[in-house]
Amino acid sequence: MSAGDVRGLLRRYDPGKLTVATIASHSSIQILLGAKREGLRTLALAPPGRGWFYSRMWFVDEVWEMDLRELPSAADRLLSMNAILVPHGSYVEYVGWRAALEMRVPTFGNRYLLEWEADQHRKMELLASAGLRTPRTYRSPEEVDGPVIVKLYGAKGGKGYFVARGVEELRDGLRGVDGPYIIQEYVVGVPAYHHFFYSPLRGRLELFGFDIRYESNVDGRTLGLAKPTFVVVGNVPLVLRESLLPGVQRDGESFASAVRERTGRPPIGPFSLESIIKDTLEIVYFEFSGRIVAGTSVYMVHGSPYSLMYFREPLDMGRRIAMEIREAAESGRLDEVVT
Ligand code: AMP
Repeated sequence: MSAGDVRGLLRRYDPGKLTVATIASHSSIQILLGAKREGLRTLALAPPGRGWFYSRMWFVDEVWEMDLRELPSAADRLLSMNAILVPHGSYVEYVGWRAALEMRVPTFGNRYLLEWEADQHRKMELLASAGLRTPRTYRSPEEVDGPVIVKLYGAKGGKGYFVARGVEELRDGLRGVDGPYIIQEYVVGVPAYHHFFYSPLRGRLELFGFDIRYESNVDGRTLGLAKPTFVVVGNVPLVLRESLLPGVQRDGESFASAVRERTGRPPIGPFSLESIIKDTLEIVYFEFSGRIVAGTSVYMVHGSPYSLMYFREPLDMGRRIAMEIREAAESGRLDEVVT
């Protein structure tokens, strides 16, 4: 969908009757609750067997239970509801990034970023082009001279990653691997996931908070019985040392500029930069997500403490998204917040 195509769709919209639609998974409770609290209609698109759970929530106006691979063929129904699709991690998982790029429904955020996110090498290149410190990427096992982490393309929620202490272990591990992967330097330190919101309406980048993922066999009580695995089970809130914040904000702004340069649009709405912070306090970025991350839900309802730097009331990310949509609709600027 080009920007012109999306503007064409918006011309038929009634901005006073928007519906926020999202897939019933990931961070959808936060997104739908935020939309309702901003006075918007809400629609949950549920995979088969999951609709009943969402139908019980007072802030969900409608639930469509469907095979989500069929979502593109529901575009006309969504358009007739003046729907704004809010993507999250499971959206791409269910629909596929190519279908998401072509989806004939105005989508909150910069959907062109999906293409960069789908390829581990391009992803790292975008981070590096923003001037951010990134882990070394090795082109072949022969180059490896320390601990590494191997990531399969399209691996979700850390599933299918493995760590090797050196080249021998790496060769062993790669024997079982099928499909494209990336070999990355394993950075020793603590993980921190940085949440940002870029507002095209206010022309600013808001630092929204941090979380840590709670991952099965690195955070679990493994008692030395299991190899490290990174399957995400939940998220935990985090505040960083305040002295780190100006650097974090600057890194976010550099990334936003790089996104604008590469895709022609700013990031739009929530995104996350995912890092390991070393004991030297250097921040090394190994990943980004060009949409809301599930870890923002740790601040649901009570709001992120950092949101108070910009607003008098604490806001969570779901409400922040809805606020941007509502304000864009009220000021005739919807085309600036959707792609
Ligand atoms: P991801 O699914 O890419 O967010 O990564 C899953 C987990 O792997 C993260 O939470 C990190 O703890 C860890 N991880 C990913 N890349 C690296 C890296 N280059 N060095 C150290 N840990 C990493």
